[in-house]
Amino acid sequence: MLVNLVEILKLAEEKKCAVGAFNTPNLECVNAVLAAAEKLNVPVIISHAELHEEVSPLAKIGPVMVQAAKNATVPVCVHLDHCETLSYMQQALDIGFTGVMYDGSTLPYEENLENTKKAVAMAKAYNCGVEAELGALASREGGAANASGPVYTDPDEAVEFCRETGIDALAPSFGTAHGIYKSKPVLDLDRVKVISEKTGLPLVMHGGSGVSPEDYRTGIKNGLRKINYYSYMSKAGTQAVKELLAKEDVTFFHDLALAAEKAMSADAEKAMRVFAGL
Ligand SMILES: [Zn+2]
Repeated sequence: MLVNLVEILKLAEEKKCAVGAFNTPNLECVNAVLAAAEKLNVPVIISHAELHEEVSPLAKIGPVMVQAAKNATVPVCVHLDHCETLSYMQQALDIGFTGVMYDGSTLPYEENLENTKKAVAMAKAYNCGVEAELGALASREGGAANASGPVYTDPDEAVEFCRETGIDALAPSFGTAHGIYKSKPVLDLDRVKVISEKTGLPLVMHGGSGVSPEDYRTGIKNGLRKINYYSYMSKAGTQAVKELLAKEDVTFFHDLALAAEKAMSADAEKAMRVFAGL
């Protein structure tokens, strides 16, 4: 069933766990993630990142995601990830997305604040929840290095930002990075706790792929309620295709797609078990 970001984060808060948010730029990803969530009977978020527009246009994959969420036996939020332009957000709202992340983290603070306020006003008219980012991760969505380097979120600034904008969830910067980690990430999970206590809002971990189960658990205990996870799931799909091609002379593409889907579902399931504390 389709639910909005506020509702799904409330479910996570009630159980003191986190809900996984998985990018689903094609049908195999949508099927993989929803099958895993239904198998474990846990709520889940499927996301489309503005960055994936070239891989999969929102106008095409968006309606597929919304319909799949409506058909699912578990609560599903359909979320727009890292939206940098409000016109793109409007497209997602019109398609029926129930969560949006406005990302103004590369902008000066005041501009981020003003744009986030606009995003909240737009989304509320559609009963859609809003996540926003403050501070900057070491890398941008897609894995490219952030020009200014990481900027950890200041807890007091976070309080002001949340109060002024009226957002429903905050993505702070505390040491994670997007993409595949080159070395073990060092996370400031105490900062998560302080920001969680001071803002009272559900917090979001970006760059969730490659974080250790132990760090996930501490982060969740400290207030993380949404964990974005994609890179390693996608990599698992590619690996399965490579292995199948090395083993067999495959003719039909759908056999590759199915192999990838199965492997991605297994990887997503593993992540969901940790996020849900199963
Ligand atoms: Zn992200």
